[in-house]
Amino acid sequence: MFTTTEEFTMQKASTRRNFIQIFPLAGLAMIAACSDKPAPAPVEPAPMPPPAPIADPVTTPPMEAPPPASEPAMTAPATSSQSGSMPMADPASSQAQMLGYVENAANADKVKYKNFVAGSHCANCGLYQGKATDKIGGCPLFPGKNVSGEGWCSAWVKVVPV
Ligand code: SF4
Repeated sequence: MFTTTEEFTMQKASTRRNFIQIFPLAGLAMIAACSDKPAPAPVEPAPMPPPAPIADPVTTPPMEAPPPASEPAMTAPATSSQSGSMPMADPASSQAQMLGYVENAANADKVKYKNFVAGSHCANCGLYQGKATDKIGGCPLFPGKNVSGEGWCSAWVKVVPV
């Protein structure tokens, strides 16, 4: 007999715990008794993989930013302030020769370049990066160089009004 309520409660909990522990085994025993085949062994869960190591903030150096590329992928257009310090495109360079660039549009080879438009020159070309009144300005076809506002090349395009 129980002397206190606490003892009664502990005994009751113990009985429930015993029942929960033996119930799955009793079920397996009943299956085994009713079946020709042996009872399946209880499946144990697969062992958990060890946790990934956590970087120690004290000993692990911080990630470094990737080094800057040696050269930019694209050449940014020259601004007016940059174009003043850039060297002039050399009309004798292979790029200039390929494009038929001349420092004065009057000297353009109009026989070779049938697309020459009278009055066209760098300062009124759509690719010119200076103002129309600038004597020199940048051009994306000559990265890092200035072209003469009075110059011309076969890539001249009319300025499209905005
Ligand atoms: S593309 Fe235009 S600005 Fe550039 S060199 Fe030719 S004519 Fe001059």
